[in-house]
Amino acid sequence: MRWSSSYIPTLKEAPAEAEVISHKLLLRAGMIRKLTSGIYTWLPFGLRALNKAANIIRQEMNNAGSQEILMPSVQPADLWQESGRWQKYGKELLRFKDRHERDYCLGPTHEEVITDLLRGEVRSYRQLPLNLYQIQTKFRDEIRPRFGLMRGREFLMKDAYSFDCNDEGADKSYKNMFEAYNKIFTNMALNFRPVEADTGAIGGNFSHEFMVLAETGEDTIAACTNWPNCTFAANVERCAILPPKTINSDSCPDMEEVATPNSHTVEEVAEFLHVSTKNILKTLLFMADGKPVAALLRGDRELNLIKLKNLLDVDELEFATPEQVQQLTNAPVGFAGPHSLIGVDTVIADYELQTANDWIAGANKGDTHVLHLSLQRDCKITRYADIRNAEAGDVCPHCGKPLELKKGIEVGHIFKLGTKYSEAMHAVYLDENGKENTIIMGCYGIGVSRVVAACIEQNNDENGIMFPPPLAPYEIIIINLDPKNQAVNAKCEELYVHMKEKNIDVLYDDREERPGIKFKDADLVGIPLQLIVGGKSLEKGVIETKIRKIGEKSSISAENYKADFE
Ligand code: ATP
Ligand code: MG
Ligand code: MG
Ligand code: MG
Repeated sequence: MRWSSSYIPTLKEAPAEAEVISHKLLLRAGMIRKLTSGIYTWLPFGLRALNKAANIIRQEMNNAGSQEILMPSVQPADLWQESGRWQKYGKELLRFKDRHERDYCLGPTHEEVITDLLRGEVRSYRQLPLNLYQIQTKFRDEIRPRFGLMRGREFLMKDAYSFDCNDEGADKSYKNMFEAYNKIFTNMALNFRPVEADTGAIGGNFSHEFMVLAETGEDTIAACTNWPNCTFAANVERCAILPPKTINSDSCPDMEEVATPNSHTVEEVAEFLHVSTKNILKTLLFMADGKPVAALLRGDRELNLIKLKNLLDVDELEFATPEQVQQLTNAPVGFAGPHSLIGVDTVIADYELQTANDWIAGANKGDTHVLHLSLQRDCKITRYADIRNAEAGDVCPHCGKPLELKKGIEVGHIFKLGTKYSEAMHAVYLDENGKENTIIMGCYGIGVSRVVAACIEQNNDENGIMFPPPLAPYEIIIINLDPKNQAVNAKCEELYVHMKEKNIDVLYDDREERPGIKFKDADLVGIPLQLIVGGKSLEKGVIETKIRKIGEKSSISAENYKADFE
C-alpha cells in the first residue's frame, strides 16, 4: 500500500478523553475513531491488525478441529427466558422490541443460540463431539465503557462452543481448547499467562482466563514466583469465595428483587466476619497517590470518616473523589441511590480494620484494594480478596513457593459449562443403547478487539506503538526520504514491487512530507521493520534499516538485498 493513497489519519495529540496508552495510540495511529460511548469504527490500518488477530485465531481453531459458523447478533428473548438469563443478566443485556412488540436482545454471548441450534440437529452420540466457533460482533451495555477498545460496548469476539457425550469427552475438549489458546497467544507474540478463574455470570464447573500481562490491566493475578517451573496463577477474584447460599430479598430492601445461588445477606456477611451487622461499615478503602482514601457510601459520611480514622489510627484519611472510585471500581459517578452500590460496596469490619491498618503502614504507592468484599445489587458477594495477605505469605498451592501479584488484561476465557444450558434448554442425544442423555458443553471466548489494545499496552514506547510482527498491520515500511530524487524513487519502487511479489505486507511512505514527519509517523504506527531510502546512503550503495522495537539501526546492500527477504 502507498501511504499517499491510503487513509491513515495520524494525530499529533490524543484526544483528552483517552486515558490509557493503547486508547491514545489507537487514535493517534489512525486505527480507530469513536462513534459514541464504547462504540468505535475501525479504520483501514487498525482493521488490518484486527484481521491479523482474527486470522491467527481462525487458524488455530481450525487446527484444533473447531468449525467456523456465523450466528445472528439479534437474539429472541424466549431463548433467554428458557435458560433463565433474561431475568439474571441485568442491564448489560441490551433489550428491545420489534414492531410486533416481541422482545429481543443484542447478543452479548451466544450460549442460548447455539444450544437452540444443536438441540434441533443433534440426535445421536454419533454426531458428537462437536466444536463450533464464530468471530462476531458482541454488544454489552457496560456500566462504564472505558479505555477505548479494552472495554467497549460493541466489540469483536471469537466464541466457540463444544458439545460432548460425557464428562471425559468434555474435559478433553476443554484441554484441547486450553492448548489452542496457548498456541494462539504465543503465535501473537504476546506475554500472557493462563490463570484459574471464577466462573461468573456464565456459570459452569471450571474455567481459565488468559491474561496479557500489563500494568494497566484491570485484573489482579496471584502468580507463582517459581514460573515457568510452576505455572500456577489465579485471578485474585477467586482467592476466597464464600460458599454458595440463597438470600431472602426482604433482608436486602434496596436491592433488586433477584436471588441467585451465590447470594448472601448482610447478616450472613457479618456472620462470616464474626461481627454484628452494626459493626459493618459500608466502606471502600484504598490507596490513591500513595495515600489512604475512603469512599463512604452510606450513613453519616463525616462521622464515619472520623470513626474510621480512629479505628485505623491514621492522621490522614481523605474522602476518595468520585473519579478515584470510578477508576478503581468501574462505578458510576456519584453515589446516588442503591444501584450505585454495584461492584463498589466493600465491607470493612472492626477486626479487619486492624489488618487494614497494617496494610496502610506497609502499602506502596499505587497499591489498590485492602480487604475487598463486594456486595452486588442482588446482595451477591462476588469477591473477597485479601490482596495484602496474598502478597505477604500466601504460598503457591501447587509448589509452596511465594506468590506475586501482577496486573493483567483478560483477553480470553474458557469455561467447562457442564449441562447448565443443555439441561435448561433440553439439548439431548441418544446413546448406544438408545437412552436419552444431556449434552455436556464448554464455551471459549477471545476478545479479538481487546487483543489489539492489549498488544499495544504491552508493546509501546514514548514514540508510539511497537507491533510484534504477527499482529502488525504491515510488516515492513519503506520510507522515501526524498521523493524529488529520481534514484531514490526508483529504488523505493523496486523494493516495493519486490516485497509485494514476496507476499510481504508492505507500506510505502511515498508522501511529499519532510523526513522528520515520516520518521515520527513510522515510529508512531509501529511497523516492525523500517527500510529508510535516502540519497546519501544510496550513493554509498546502502539502504538503512531500523528495527522499531529495539531501535537497532543497520544497513543492507541497495543492490543485493533480495536474500535478506527470502
Ligand atoms: P471482563 O471481566 O473484562 O468484563 P468478561 O469476563 O465479562 O470480561 P467474557 O464473558 O469472559 O468477558 O467474554 C470473553 C472475552 O471477551 C473476554 O475474555 C474479553 O477478552 C472479551 N470482552 C469482554 N467484555 C469486553 C468488552 N466490554 N470490550 C472488549 N472485550 C470484551
Ligand atoms: Mg464483563
Ligand atoms: Mg472477567
Ligand atoms: Mg471472562
